[in-house]
Amino acid sequence: GYRSRAAYKLKEIDEELGLLKPGQLVVDLGAAPGAWSQYVRRKFAPKDAGAGGAAPGELHGAIIALDLLDFEPIEGVTFIQGDFREEGILRQLDEAVGGRAVDVVISDMAPNLSGIEVSDAARIAHLVELAMEFATTHLKPDGALVCKVFHGSGYSQLVELFKRNFRVVKAIKPKASRDRSAETFLAGRGLKNAG
Ligand code: SAM
Repeated sequence: GYRSRAAYKLKEIDEELGLLKPGQLVVDLGAAPGAWSQYVRRKFAPKDAGAGGAAPGELHGAIIALDLLDFEPIEGVTFIQGDFREEGILRQLDEAVGGRAVDVVISDMAPNLSGIEVSDAARIAHLVELAMEFATTHLKPDGALVCKVFHGSGYSQLVELFKRNFRVVKAIKPKASRDRSAETFLAGRGLKNAG
């Protein structure tokens, strides 16, 4: 099983977009308790030999996960504990990436919501903007970014932000997140300003 039901949201997004494949470098933001990393890891360690050239059970691909909260280790997943809004943590993430081009950035980061719509919208937007900044500076030209967002105040500006930076943009509402009606995921693929 998975550490959280969140895995099924990523599964739906992955199945809709054909996002995750063995051999990729994936950065998982807001990764705790670790279900998304578990899902990606399983895609990288196919049970059948041959997929992406990996032997049975062998991990083919790399995952870097980051969260404010602690994270029970997952074999083959590099974990960084800290606040994505802090420069020192971004530097640690940069070091873990080590100059490689990233295939996919997935962010399930969500701020603690205050219930005050404008300040919540600003917090959400800030995290998405930082994820966008990281994505545009680290993704391969045909790479992808998936971010959790919330319908409501600030949503259309985030869609515009994605459209400014990616050639293809999609909003996906997984069935697995129906309990939280405002939750939606924005996916962008193919950097507009890449070489
Ligand atoms: N995708 C995860 C999984 O599958 O297990 C669930 C993620 S949970 C919905 C959201 C996570 O975002 C929380 O663990 C929270 O600590 C993290 N988060 C929120 N703000 C953050 C920040 N500024 N920096 C790093 N992590 C953050």
